[in-house]
Amino acid sequence: MLNIVLFGPPGVGKGTQAKKLVERYGLKHLSTGDMLRAEKASGSDLGNKVAEIMNAGKLVSDEIVNAIVESQVRANRDEKGFIFDGYPRTSAQAAKLDEILAGIDAGIAATLFLDAPKEELVSRLLKRAQEQGRADDNEETIEKRVVEYNEKTLPVAEVYRAQDKLRTVEGLGEIDEVFERLVAVVEIVNA
Ligand code: AMP
Repeated sequence: MLNIVLFGPPGVGKGTQAKKLVERYGLKHLSTGDMLRAEKASGSDLGNKVAEIMNAGKLVSDEIVNAIVESQVRANRDEKGFIFDGYPRTSAQAAKLDEILAGIDAGIAATLFLDAPKEELVSRLLKRAQEQGRADDNEETIEKRVVEYNEKTLPVAEVYRAQDKLRTVEGLGEIDEVFERLVAVVEIVNA
């Protein structure tokens, strides 16, 4: 299996690049943000529970996202591999992901860290707010999401660095340009 974590701050373009990697390598895209938004849209009890948290720009509990990812990984264990987009976002999620993958005799090949300066990202998110109307893309929640990222998510990079799995990729530039940078790294880890 080829399992890749796509890591990076809000607004860096993880979703866009994940879709392109999925196309190129025939992997299964697991975006916890997309799955949580679908849950929210369905109006289920779980969806109603997470809606408020997401709209406030805060992280949904590890328990909830881990359970969603575990069931998706198990259900898709025959795929060629997974692109994890927006997960793990805490050190506890990173530990759980290792456990989930070990359960299907697999592991993470690499964590691709797409990085870019904060000012650039905030303006991208504000632009996305106008284009897509995401409930959590407004000035107040963007600020909250950046704080959550710095406090809880950034330490996850160190977990993967310690395992020698972290590969940093410059996130600024044209979509195709950034994609080719990611592909160059995937080609090496997949060789
Ligand atoms: P995203 O589309 O990845 O930016 O995620 C949108 C929102 O969903 C985040 O701001 C969180 O509220 C929630 N979310 C997505 N993935 C996770 C995760 N791995 N852990 C906790 N909350 C998450």
